[in-house]
Amino acid sequence: SIAMITAIGDKRLARRFALATSSLTIKLLESEDPEWRDEIVLKIARDVFGMDVRRDNRVVGGIAYDYSLGLKDYLRGALAFNRLEWKLVNRVVERGRVPVTAHELLRLLKDRVMEHVLSLVERAGKIRALPSPVEEAIRELRGKMPAAIQLELAAVKSGPETWPPCMRTIADRLMAGENISHFANFAFAAFLSNIGFEPHEIIRFYANRPDFKERIAKYQVEHIAGLRGSRTKYMTPSCSTMKTNGLCIKDGALCGGIRNPLAYYRRATKKIRKIDKNKAEVGGERGEAGGEVIGDSGPNGDTPSDQQISGNPR
Ligand code: SF4
Repeated sequence: SIAMITAIGDKRLARRFALATSSLTIKLLESEDPEWRDEIVLKIARDVFGMDVRRDNRVVGGIAYDYSLGLKDYLRGALAFNRLEWKLVNRVVERGRVPVTAHELLRLLKDRVMEHVLSLVERAGKIRALPSPVEEAIRELRGKMPAAIQLELAAVKSGPETWPPCMRTIADRLMAGENISHFANFAFAAFLSNIGFEPHEIIRFYANRPDFKERIAKYQVEHIAGLRGSRTKYMTPSCSTMKTNGLCIKDGALCGGIRNPLAYYRRATKKIRKIDKNKAEVGGERGEAGGEVIGDSGPNGDTPSDQQISGNPR
């Protein structure tokens, strides 16, 4: 499979394959007899992934833990999760170790398996000669694969030159088909919704994700846009919330002390409108003087400068 994925050379396919393999691995481990499953899990975590993990059966605060992880290994996995129970402030930490349940260790392992499969695909490099039936299967698969969504970012309304670095980074990662945290997904969708993107335009950004399901994405985006449920449009998370979730770029050094990513967008669109206006005026003057008129440089009518945000930025 690795050889075929490598030969096809599609990053989205590689990610989908890695995700499917890691989900299957965890499912198989979960279905093992608990008597020896724990030993296998321990062995994989230590020997394959070099994790600092120990058997550590104890009950703390009514929770039965099965293992403990070194802080570094815990953080490496847990930082990608949004649920409150993974946040370090909500965990027991003792002498640099964090107790985890068997279920939590499996969840952390799942991401390691996915990374491992992706690294195998990367390391396989360029596959030259494959048996002809395999070549044929590869051709067939290529023909069946949907084309990657290549958004002409410069062409989309309110183009990314007006977006703050955090949102541009999320967009780049989504375009590359990377799996990003739930919070990053939410923040990006809320941002786009608040600058005037329609749900179907927002969903296109998520189509390259390895686990993309249009029906679910549509439901979630419509919810964020306030078209479902409580009908409240979600605000774009504040810069401090973005920082807490590890999504702020260079600790805000590129953004001039703003408190919400929308402030960056407003400032940037205002600047662009001003430049366009100046250009139009110069063009007009040149036209009157018989010079060349600068064409199509007027204000971008798509810019939703009058977009209302429901509620106050956090
Ligand atoms: S300061 Fe705010 S807008 Fe700028 S990168 Fe950080 S979170 Fe994004």
